[in-house]
Amino acid sequence: MYLLIFPDVFFTKGAKRTLVLDFKREELLYIPNLPCGLQEQFSTETIECIFSKWGEEWHEFIQQFIDFILRYRLGVLVEDITGFRKIEEIYCSPCLIEIACIDIEKHAHRYDYIAAQLAKLNCQHLQFRYFLPVSLAEVDKTLQPFLQHEWLSIELIICQPNWNHVDEAISFLEKYPMLSMIVFNQEKNYYKKIKTEFTSQSIGFILYSEQCFSSPRDCGVINRRTLYRLKTVHSYMFNKLYNSCLYKKLFISSEGDVMNCPCIPRYYGNIDQNDVQLVDIVSNEKFQSLGMINTDRVSVCKLCEFRYLCNDCRAFLENLTDKPYKCHYNPECMQWSEEM
Ligand code: SF4
Ligand code: SF4
Repeated sequence: MYLLIFPDVFFTKGAKRTLVLDFKREELLYIPNLPCGLQEQFSTETIECIFSKWGEEWHEFIQQFIDFILRYRLGVLVEDITGFRKIEEIYCSPCLIEIACIDIEKHAHRYDYIAAQLAKLNCQHLQFRYFLPVSLAEVDKTLQPFLQHEWLSIELIICQPNWNHVDEAISFLEKYPMLSMIVFNQEKNYYKKIKTEFTSQSIGFILYSEQCFSSPRDCGVINRRTLYRLKTVHSYMFNKLYNSCLYKKLFISSEGDVMNCPCIPRYYGNIDQNDVQLVDIVSNEKFQSLGMINTDRVSVCKLCEFRYLCNDCRAFLENLTDKPYKCHYNPECMQWSEEM
């Protein structure tokens, strides 16, 4: 008899425990770290054979692992395991850039030019971050050139809303079903899902948040609440293989500079002052290099069981492969410190 662990159940070994991620359930599961090679053996060897290889002293441990898999329906017992293949660890995307973030602080950008350039990259998601007081009419005006092209989602980050009541923002979102909105610096938290015929998890909601967010430098905080709730194997592969924040991402700073992130001083031209060609910029190896740093390469993080759920930040650190300053987790003692 074999123990078939379903291929979409993922184990991430940390310094002191292993995180078990099963997309079919909401909560995260934890188990003690398994000895090297044991989990892999279940995909080729019978349970009886594994028991006999590991010897008497491991019987109880192995039995507890098998019971855990069966109790949480993470696998089943099968007579023949040969027909069940592992999921290949790859991430494919037809886009040169998947998400573009545009910061708006002091002045407007050349929106028509930017929209056309991003469309050429097959960019799927847009994010506008307003760090100045803004009305819904002004947001509407900014969006118009972008609405001439197709996007999967548009997210609005608003730090100082210039409207009186949340209902006004809800009506605005109802008008544009591909939008979602997060309003920071609010007195209390409030979340509402907007009725839309589309089902994507990343559109059609408004979140008022107490979190303080007033400038690009407030970005990059990693705490329990910022861990991703991944819904698909595709998104898991993205986070595992690449930098979850910067891979296939492009920023346009409030000054019009094309960047990987406004908090990382790497500049690739100014799109408000020159007709820069984004295709050339994002094809450049230097631009792509930050997105290639996954958490398996980052000190401390490579021993963290949350490393594939983490919105890893590459901005606030001394060396490029250091654990980010703004992380509140210590994988050695499995503790989250006081959150900012
Ligand atoms: S690298 Fe850090 S600061 Fe930059 S966008 Fe990502 S999380 Fe924010
Ligand atoms: S230790 Fe690293 S991987 Fe773990 S939560 Fe912090 S930043 Fe993310």
